[in-house]
This record gives sequence, C-alpha cells and structure tokens, in this order.
Amino acid sequence: MSFSVEQVRADFPILNREVNGHPLAYLDSAASAQRPERVIEAEATFYRTGYAAVHRGIHTLSAQATAQMENVRVAAARFINARTPDEIVFVRGTTQGINLVANSWGNRHVEAGDNIIISEMEHHANIVPWQMLCQRTGAELRVIPLKPDGTLQLDVFPRLMDERTRLLAITQVSNVLGTENPLQQMIACARLAGVKVLVDGAQAIMHHTVDVQALDCDFYVFSSHKIYGPTGIGVLWAREEILQAMPPWEGGGSMIATVSLTQGTTYAPAPGRFEAGTPNTGGIIGFGAALEYVTQLGLDNIDAYETSLMRYALNALETVPELTLYGPQERRGTIAFNLGKHHAYDVGSFLDNYGIAVRTGHHCAMPVMAFYGVPAMCRASFAMYNTEEEVDRLVAGLIRIHRLLG
Ligand code: PMP
Repeated sequence: MSFSVEQVRADFPILNREVNGHPLAYLDSAASAQRPERVIEAEATFYRTGYAAVHRGIHTLSAQATAQMENVRVAAARFINARTPDEIVFVRGTTQGINLVANSWGNRHVEAGDNIIISEMEHHANIVPWQMLCQRTGAELRVIPLKPDGTLQLDVFPRLMDERTRLLAITQVSNVLGTENPLQQMIACARLAGVKVLVDGAQAIMHHTVDVQALDCDFYVFSSHKIYGPTGIGVLWAREEILQAMPPWEGGGSMIATVSLTQGTTYAPAPGRFEAGTPNTGGIIGFGAALEYVTQLGLDNIDAYETSLMRYALNALETVPELTLYGPQERRGTIAFNLGKHHAYDVGSFLDNYGIAVRTGHHCAMPVMAFYGVPAMCRASFAMYNTEEEVDRLVAGLIRIHRLLG
C-alpha cells in the first residue's frame, strides 16, 4: 500500500477541527497520538453489539469477546515478532508494564549490593520504579550519562557494569530529545555480561518496525495510545522462560488456577497470571484495530514519510532566530526547543492561540531538564498524519512570537 498523508489525515476525524479559530495542528503525538475512525468504531461496535465479560462465561457473547481479545494478543505478538502470544501481557500501559517487571521480576532477582543501570534520558516511568526497587532491596541505581548533543556516553556504559549488575533498563527513543539509542550494540554488550535488558518502547513503536527477537532484549514495553490506539492498554512482552518463572504481582480473579481458604492459591500460567481482574476489553479491541491499521499502512512507509518530515522540520526551524534545539540531528518523532529566554509555557500558550498544539514542561524527564539547566522545554512531536504545512505554521508562529516578545 502506498502512503498518502492526505488519505491518512482523512482517517482521523479530530484533525478536521479548529482550535482558537485556526485549523488544529496537532504536534503532541509523543504525549498521545490521535485515533483513526476505525479504532473509535471498533471499540464502539464492540460495546454496541459484542460486549460481555471475558474468560468466565459459557454464553456466546462472552466466548466471542474472549476470542476477540485473544486475537489481539496474537496480533500484538506478530506485530513485535514475539515467539508466542503467551509472551504478551496486557497491561495499562508502559508505566504499569515497567512497574510489573520491577515488582515481580525485580523483587525476586535484585538484592542488596546488586545494581541496575538506566540512562539519564529516561522518562520518569523508567526511573521511579527502579528507584523504588532499589529502596526496597538496598540495590544501587547507576546512570549512563548524557552528552550535550543528546546522545548517551556509550563508552561509560560497559564500565558501569559489574558482576552485580542485574538489569539494563533503557529507552529505545527519548521522549524529549528524539535520540534513538544503539540498542543492538548495547544489548549485545549487556548479554556478554549476563545482564538482562528491559526496553522502554513507548516512543519507538509508532515510528518503525520492532522485532523483539532481533533486538534480543528480555522485556519490551509499550502503550497503545502512542500507536493510534485507545488509552489504558499496553503490552509487556517478556521472553517466555523469564515470564513463566516470574511470580504474580497483583492478586485477584483470572490470575489463579485454584483458590482454597485452607490450602492457599495456585496461579495460572503467564500471561494470565499477570492479568488480575476484568481487563480493559474495549481498549484491547481498539488496540487490535490500531495495530491492523498501522500494519496495513506499513511501518516502512510510515518510517520513510516521518523521516523526511523530520528532516524538513529541522531545516525549517533553522530560520527561527534565537531558537535552541535539544537533541541530535538524527532523531525520531520529537523536537524539543526553547525560544530565546522565554519560558516554554509562554511560547506554548502563544502557539496554542495559533491552533498549534505542542507540549511544554519537563516532559516527565526532569533529569534531562537538569542536564540542560532549564526548567522546561517546548516539544513539537510528529506523527504520520502531520504535514510540511503544519511545520511551516510552527515556524511562522515561532518567528511571530520572537518578534512579539523580543
Ligand atoms: N516511557 C516513555 C519514553 C514515554 O514517552 C512515556 C509516555 N510519555 C512513558 C514511558 C509512559 O507511558 P504511559 O504514560 O503510556 O504509561
């Protein structure tokens, strides 16, 4: 299928709306992407005609809903090239997936004196659960430092590892700087040292193909809402042998084999063991529709279009006076910046007046703000439905703000 941005835009009803008297230029997809009609429709149709609680019912609706949900597990496995759908755990999103690993795998495998390695560019979701694990266990958190160009000091990484290193938890793409980390190389290095690897795929999954077997990581986590699906659903992938050996985290219905008040409880095999309670079935169905949509468009097409749009944007932004860009030239999805000495909130508010939605603040990456010595940044982020015309509007808006604010 060939890629036409106009056709793609036509699939997203929200992109037709106006904001503050201007056509919406939605440049905040790294926070959350918009949904195409078919995702909205898949979820609505499920609630209209197919909804029932899954798993436990003998009745037709329940059996059909269960089958639909399990089909999405199969689709998710195929999407990231997992060996089997049993390696796919449905979670609330990236945040819950990482917390699950930190609590289940972490509590069992990390002890006082051990260490875990993260990087300075992580989202708080890939920092705080590890800080909490270290507090619980007496382990140490080590950090691969940033370089001013927004890439990591890769030479430091091997030196941080020792025989007590249990895990490298690293983002594939930075949600602020857009840096794509050389995971192949880093994972190979971790493997040699017998260190497990968790990859935060929240900012990569929508931009290019992900193959967890080729990556050779142990855990991979992402959220549906970043890849044009509903909120409140995401995936934790883990190697089957690791997942099956992990103890349950949350207890409740659906995750058990047997429960007895006298004999205790035995647990279901993974992934059921990690899916206590009634799942977000509507979200899962919508997520399935999103995966199908992206697959039909072709991630290679999406990648090629977005890469060219990013190049266009980086060139165009060079014409804005006093604009500081953060991050490397080669990047994915996001451009973080500040305009002169103006606070990011002021710049973001002006852009909003022109109908341009960008994010402002610390982007859940306070250590990145600290590294660059700023309290906040603006971030324009691009998805497959953004256009060069929207980039031109961003540039024109920034030039105007610069003129107005001085
Ligand atoms: N990691 C990264 C790199 C992210 O960009 C985000 C979302 N901003 C998260 C983790 C957390 O994802 P969620 O809020 O969907 O759990």
